[in-house]
Formats: sequence, structure tokens, C-alpha cells
Amino acid sequence: MTEGSEGEWLGLPVAGIIPFSATDWPGRLTATVFTQGCPWRCVYCHNPSLQDVGTGSRDFAEALELMERRRGLLDGLVISGGEPTVHRSLPAAIRETHHRGFPVGLHTCGYAPARLAALLGDDRTRPDWIGLDVKALPADLPSVVGCTPAVAERSAAALGLVAETAARTGMEVQVRTTVWPGGVVDRNLGELRELVAAHGFDLVVQQARNVDADGVYRVPA
Ligand code: SF4
Repeated sequence: MTEGSEGEWLGLPVAGIIPFSATDWPGRLTATVFTQGCPWRCVYCHNPSLQDVGTGSRDFAEALELMERRRGLLDGLVISGGEPTVHRSLPAAIRETHHRGFPVGLHTCGYAPARLAALLGDDRTRPDWIGLDVKALPADLPSVVGCTPAVAERSAAALGLVAETAARTGMEVQVRTTVWPGGVVDRNLGELRELVAAHGFDLVVQQARNVDADGVYRVPA
């Protein structure tokens, strides 16, 4: 017996599945699913093929079958993207994964705090770990991800929401950002660290690779 409607969790559009990863959830061995579709256009995005919202070429059932075959060998399933919270089928997919006994990690940029709040407010859909990408300070966000200032202001609430949930439930969290040499995130990194520290987290800094001086990803020759 499955939780929720089977059609609902099968609706999560999957672009790719990594059967074994030691890097997507710190300290855990996972399988990782990449959902299709992202509302943002980060200047350094190294996987623009994941941006357009589409049906995906894989199936979430494949990921769950993989988890079943490797039961006892993997610590959990990471749902990454793209941006997973774009999809209305995400809560059902997490609920079904939990129902089968597998911990869930979620990568999100926090672009839609209301959706995130709904996810985090329910024990069945709250991930066990979140990797929250804080892309930039709110004032810098439009130039980094291509969103409007209003969206930048709105999405800033995600950090506080994740911090409050972690304090209330023990949900594990990693907060990270991506820099490129001389870019706006790099220049304002101290202030971003302070913002993240004010919410009780250390900021993990990742380097964008193969980007030009504007931070735009270039395919290596
Ligand atoms: S949030 Fe991720 S998938 Fe979306 S544009 Fe940025 S780097 Fe690419």
C-alpha cells in the first residue's frame, strides 16, 4: 500500500538518476535524482538543460526501485535539480519515499518559501536534510539568478524558515553558496556569511568552474 495517489508521486519529472553518490548529502551514501525544470537562470549554471520545465526522460519509480534494490546499502535518496520545489508532485514523492523507509535529502534554492513552508510543516514531507543554496544577498540576487527584486525579497524568507524548522525538528541543514573570482557573490561574501551566521549556520562556499569574468559558464574546449 502506498501513501497518497500513485499517479501523484509518479508525476515528478526526472531528468537523471545517479545510483551512488558520496557527495550530495554530507556524510551519507545516497542515490540522487535530478528533477527537470528551474525558474532561475544562474549566470554560472553548468546544467542549463535542466532549466526548462518538461516531463523528464526518467521516472521517479525507477529511483524508488533502485532504493529498494539497494536497501541497507544506501543511507537515503537525495532529490536535486533543476529546482525540485517547482513541482506540485514533490510532496507526494517525498511522502512515498519516507513511507518506504528511506531518509530524504533535498537540494533547493528556496525560491518559493510558501511551498517550502508547506513541505517543512508536515512530518511526512519534511526532508531529513536540506542543502539550501543561498545564491546571493537579496540585493544581488537578481543579477545572479535573473529574478525580479520582488522575488529576491520574497525568497530571502527561506533561510529563516529553514533555521526555524531545524531548531524545532532537528532537521539537518547545509547552507551553501557559489562564487566565481571577482564576482558579486565573492565581493560581498563577508556580508553573506554574516547573514547566514545570524541564522545559526556556517556558510559552505563552492567555486563555480569553467566560468568567465562575468561568472557565465563556458563549455571547456
Ligand atoms: S538554481 Fe541550479 S539549476 Fe537553476 S539555474 Fe541556478 S544553478 Fe541552474
